[in-house]
Amino acid sequence: MPALHQTADQQGVFVTQKFSGGVFHADLSDGRAGVEIELLHSHLCASTADGDAFVIPYEECQLEIGGYTGKMLFCRNADRSVTLFSEDKQFPKALALAAGGRLDDQLASQLSKAKGESRRGAIFSFGLVAATLIVLVSLYFGIRAGANRVTQSLPVSLDRELGKAAYQAMPKEGSEITDPLVTEPIQSIVDRLADHAKVEGMDFELHVIDSATVNAYCLPGGTMVVYTGLISAAESPGQLAAVISHEMAHATLRHGLSRISQTLGLTAAVSLLIGDTAGIMAAAEEFFTAASINSYSRQQETEADLEGVRMLHAAAIDPSGMPSLFELLKEEHGELPEALVWVSTHPDHASRIEETQNMIDSLPAKPYKPIDLDWEALKSRVAGDSTKKADVSNSSNESSADSTVDPSELEQENGS
Ligand SMILES: [Zn+2]
Repeated sequence: MPALHQTADQQGVFVTQKFSGGVFHADLSDGRAGVEIELLHSHLCASTADGDAFVIPYEECQLEIGGYTGKMLFCRNADRSVTLFSEDKQFPKALALAAGGRLDDQLASQLSKAKGESRRGAIFSFGLVAATLIVLVSLYFGIRAGANRVTQSLPVSLDRELGKAAYQAMPKEGSEITDPLVTEPIQSIVDRLADHAKVEGMDFELHVIDSATVNAYCLPGGTMVVYTGLISAAESPGQLAAVISHEMAHATLRHGLSRISQTLGLTAAVSLLIGDTAGIMAAAEEFFTAASINSYSRQQETEADLEGVRMLHAAAIDPSGMPSLFELLKEEHGELPEALVWVSTHPDHASRIEETQNMIDSLPAKPYKPIDLDWEALKSRVAGDSTKKADVSNSSNESSADSTVDPSELEQENGS
């Protein structure tokens, strides 16, 4: 009988070490359990706190490095009925030593694969940690409670963390403009509206991007992104303020979080449990693109319109900029379709004009204060900075470029 529990101190040949980890097996309640993994001379042996033991001979071991951290090492048996895993940094090396060369090839190929993916993974890892947290908390509160109620019960700091991570990870469609003659007037609109935000704790940080794409979005937690193309397209400060209020409303109504929990939800939780990150990566990547960040549901769009009107009115900004902007975009839709990302993500102008106008008519009369900025100076400053070219490199919006399609059919289809 070989000396299974010999240690390196004694012989330096057989290394017995224990690692904490987990096991997936159909017979376990929940299908999984925490285990202590021992590396013996011919096999891995994992024991649960309940006394169940699982053994995988090194000859059978199928290795995979992954999991949501990208650093978990999974070992499966021949028929893949048992999966043992550990995240311990020393585990791969100890396993290689214990298996005496039998797993070196598999480990080397998994490690090089993991290395190749780590660059891509690192970009999204911060956002993924937040997204994972949302998923787990969502599950904790019970999916059946409804994504909206679950979202409202999460701390706003989570929105901020996710939004900031998303902004860092998102590809920008142009350079950021720091010229205060451009940023300060827009910041003043944001600040005026922020005083009337529905939730506290949002950090409405403005980024102006030099791109002819007509777009703006507000990430969870308040990171507000305005493209110079939108400033050029707007005909008045009131119209610009209308888009900003609408986008800020998406953030204060926490639509991004609802959308992520709905998109990732149970699928992501299951993916994480089986150590498959591909799905969650794809969902996060898709969410973190300028073309799809505004792909909210029709109901969320209506909510953002009406909350935007409320914020404008509360901030003593004439909310008629909202319906007048929709009129303008309705007319221009089709002329520069590739550049009009905001239009393609916000279809159905006729009903939006009607809905926002109805709300405005129902609001108590109030003296509105003009937006304090030099509109012509801002526009010419932007025109000078801007490339004046539509960003047509993003061809993923081809479906929305067809102006003969009923706009309502485009909802949710763009940017995917
Ligand atoms: Zn919207």
